[in-house]
Amino acid sequence: MNGTKIHSPEDQERITDLVVANQILAQHEILDGFGHVSVRSSFNPKHYFMMRRMAPALVTAAEVLEFDADSMPIDPSVRPDAREQDPSLGVLVAGALYGERPIHGEIYRLRDDVEAVVHSHMPAVIPFGVSGVRFRPVLHMAGFLPSDTPVFEIRDAQDTGGMLVMSNPVGAALARSLANAPLVLMRGHGTTVVGGSIKEAVFRSVYAELNARLLLQSLQLTKDPVCLSEKEISFNHREISDFDRPWDLWKHQLGVLK
Ligand SMILES: [Zn+2]
Repeated sequence: MNGTKIHSPEDQERITDLVVANQILAQHEILDGFGHVSVRSSFNPKHYFMMRRMAPALVTAAEVLEFDADSMPIDPSVRPDAREQDPSLGVLVAGALYGERPIHGEIYRLRDDVEAVVHSHMPAVIPFGVSGVRFRPVLHMAGFLPSDTPVFEIRDAQDTGGMLVMSNPVGAALARSLANAPLVLMRGHGTTVVGGSIKEAVFRSVYAELNARLLLQSLQLTKDPVCLSEKEISFNHREISDFDRPWDLWKHQLGVLK
C-alpha cells in the first residue's frame, strides 16, 4: 500500500471505508474532480489518512497515505512539492499531494471528537456563504445543522488573494471558525463537514447539500420559510443516528456491497 504501514485492524477498516466514502461522495456529486476525505488514525490519533492527490471517484486503497499532525506525509519517499511551502507564490501547485491538507490536520488538532473530515465544493451550499442568508435546516434529515452555520472568510486569515487553505495557520483559522459546529461554509469556495465517523461525515455531506437545494427552493416561495426549531434540532440528534442504513444503500449503489 504505497509504503503506508497499517498498524491495527481498526485502521484497516477505516481505510476501507475511506475508499468507499470517496466513491459515494463522487457519485452524489458532493465531490467532483476536486475535494477530499480523510479519517483519523485510531492507532495514532494525532495522525490521519487521506489519498494522494487524485480525483475522488478514482481512488483505491493503494493511494492511501498517512499524515502527521502538521499534515506532512510520514512516508519519507513522499514529499510535498517544495513550492507548496511558499504561500507567497499564490499558485495552485500540482504536486503529489492535496494542497489543502491543512483543513484536515488543523481540525483534527482542535477537535478531539472529530474522526472524519469531508472538504468539498458542493454547489448548492455556496450561495449561503456569499449572501448573508443563514444556512438553516428545513429538512428533518438535516436536523444536525445548527440554526446558524458558521462562514469562514478567508480574507480575515490571509491577504494574498488566494482562496484555498494551503498553510497550517490558515487551516487553524478555518478550524476556529468551525468551532464546535458540524460544518463550516467557506465563502466563495466550498464546505468542510466533520463527523464522529466516516459514515456520519458522509451522511452529513449528502444531506447538507440536499437541505441547501430545498432551502433555496423554499426561499423562492417565501422570504421566511419555517425551519427546524432549536427544540427540533436538539431532538433530531437523538432521533437520527442510524448512519449504517443509508451507507449500506449508497455502497450497494456503487455495486460493492458483498
Ligand atoms: Zn477546496
